[in-house]
Amino acid sequence: MTTLIETDEHKALRAAVTAFAKAHTEADGLWQAAAKLGYIGVNLPEAYGGGGGGITELSLVLEELGAAGNPLLMMIVSPAICGTVIARFGTDAQKGEWLPALADGSRLMAFGITEPDAGSNSHRITTTARRDGTDWLLTGRKVFVSGVDIADATLIVGRTEDARTGSLKPCLFIVPRDAPGFSRRKIDMELDGAEKQFELVLDDVRLPAEALVGDEDAGLLQLFAGLNPERIMTAAFAIGMGRYALDKAVAYARDRTVWKTPIGAHQAIAHPLAQAHIDLELARLMMQKAAQLYDAGDDVGAGEAANMAKYAAGEACVKAVDQAVHTLGGNGLTREFGLARLITASRVARIAPVSREMILNYVSHQTLGLPKSY
Ligand SMILES: Cc1cc2nc3c(=O)[nH]c(=O)nc-3n(C[C@H](O)[C@H](O)[C@H](O)COP(=O)(O)OP(=O)(O)OC[C@H]3O[C@@H](n4cnc5c(N)ncnc54)[C@H](O)[C@@H]3O)c2cc1C
Repeated sequence: MTTLIETDEHKALRAAVTAFAKAHTEADGLWQAAAKLGYIGVNLPEAYGGGGGGITELSLVLEELGAAGNPLLMMIVSPAICGTVIARFGTDAQKGEWLPALADGSRLMAFGITEPDAGSNSHRITTTARRDGTDWLLTGRKVFVSGVDIADATLIVGRTEDARTGSLKPCLFIVPRDAPGFSRRKIDMELDGAEKQFELVLDDVRLPAEALVGDEDAGLLQLFAGLNPERIMTAAFAIGMGRYALDKAVAYARDRTVWKTPIGAHQAIAHPLAQAHIDLELARLMMQKAAQLYDAGDDVGAGEAANMAKYAAGEACVKAVDQAVHTLGGNGLTREFGLARLITASRVARIAPVSREMILNYVSHQTLGLPKSY
């Protein structure tokens, strides 16, 4: 039975990840250390070296790493999107090649869908794969793709031409980092995370038939199998960051005294922190619902809940960080206290992987049945 009250196993996992994250404060080697303990592949099938859990467990891990100040952005991509899509739709050979390595942390996979002329509107992507004998030739451009330099391959969303209708349909290809014709340029982001973002050019990248993941005719379904985990994991990333900022602010507000009592006794400081806590808890509840629906195989139900969770978590994170910075006064803007850098970082969850407005559009149209403006 699924429940929104955490099981003892989940509580134990949460406690173990928290203890781990507190003991590993350096970003260097964190991925491998977490993978060694089974945290990175906790959602992947046991038959391929994973933990046999789901997005419920994986999102819990990412939330706790973030709450300790050490979020691993690539968890949103490598095990959650790529691992899920390969586990659900990959061939036996793809599963054998990739899943054990993604689970044990020895290999990473990035994910590229965003294009310069098709940001929020992924129906407009133009990266195109055409057949050349049994090979594929992939051509196009991507932008803002995270971690391409540290990933062994990137799962690229392209399109193939439907032989019958001539229309383009989405397809997923595994593109090795050093494939000829596959080049990258680092984007100068105002973010200080370990994971960098890249603009990619694919110039007739030659790929063998086995690079295509899953069925050429089921592209959209397969794509959404990966995008829902991505949204749930982005919610976890945001909730973790919000909790981290809030903890720092609460600790500061308990001590800092400029009149007769600590500043935390003033309701102008205490109430917004309490509100931030409530918003983060509510966002987590929706994230857990989305994860449970997804793990139970309800892709449609999970779609709506994952969107709502990502929205709620993004907003809760931005507000928590803003209030945390404010609580520290001038110290909120020093490097020493480490909160100012989160002002930029917290905005990521409002923009990516799907913006606040596109989720409001989704809920307006899909849930409320209102007409579309675009
Ligand atoms: C740190 C970071 C990491 C990322 N990592 C990856 C990655 O690994 N792989 C990947 O593929 N992509 C990645 N992205 C890209 C991300 O998914 C896109 O930035 C996001 O989808 C928005 O697209 P865009 O930037 O082109 O904005 P646009 O689509 O140009 O939107 C700009 C603004 O217009 C609004 N808007 C657009 N259309 C509408 C509409 N119809 N109604 C109302 N408002 C609208 C949007 O909400 C937004 O506020 C990353 C982005 C960031 C910032």
